[in-house]
Amino acid sequence: MGKADIVFYSLAKLGASYKIMANITLGELASKGSDGSEPTPVDMVLAAKIQQMRDLLGKPVHINSVYRTVKHNASVGGVAGSYHTQGMAADIWFGDTFADRIPDEEAAQCAEYVGFGGIGLYPGRIHVDTRPGRYRYRKPGKDYITVAGFPGYALPVAPEPEPVVDPATAESVPVELLCRCGGLIATVEGIRLDGSIYAPVRQLCESLGHTVEWTGDKVIVK
Ligand SMILES: [Zn+2]
Repeated sequence: MGKADIVFYSLAKLGASYKIMANITLGELASKGSDGSEPTPVDMVLAAKIQQMRDLLGKPVHINSVYRTVKHNASVGGVAGSYHTQGMAADIWFGDTFADRIPDEEAAQCAEYVGFGGIGLYPGRIHVDTRPGRYRYRKPGKDYITVAGFPGYALPVAPEPEPVVDPATAESVPVELLCRCGGLIATVEGIRLDGSIYAPVRQLCESLGHTVEWTGDKVIVK
């Protein structure tokens, strides 16, 4: 992770809509206000992790800022030597609209899950970067934070569907009620449903203090 993963792309040659990842274009990663004359450094690990977050969260990613030229970084009040000036950081949010975006805390948990080195929570966006080691912070302020849910973001898992028994497959079957000597006491109507036979005799016998044994469609009363 880091400088070795950086690939330089020419915005002037490739155009803003050139796809770096399935849902990330070169234009989104280039420095704002750049005329494209200088190459844009793209950290492929950064881009891949953002794409992974986008896939996990299932919402469009909005990239406010990735690469900043040193000049642009200074103009937005960025920290000198910021990972943004090396193309290793992005300020992002996820959602169809800003108003219904994925909550910042949840986006940070997802960033944690995909293994970003640096994660910052800002009102309305998160900062992620591929620095070596771990750094977590919240702005405003410079508090070191622990991201809720660390170490993993777990996607909500849909409950297993209940097995459905189709009542249309139920069939009426005769159930022989036998005494233990083998004599037939009665034949009652049972229902075969989903491989099991249901007959009211078991309940009746057990309520009278008998034990019952089922073998196929026969019930032996003891
Ligand atoms: Zn940032």
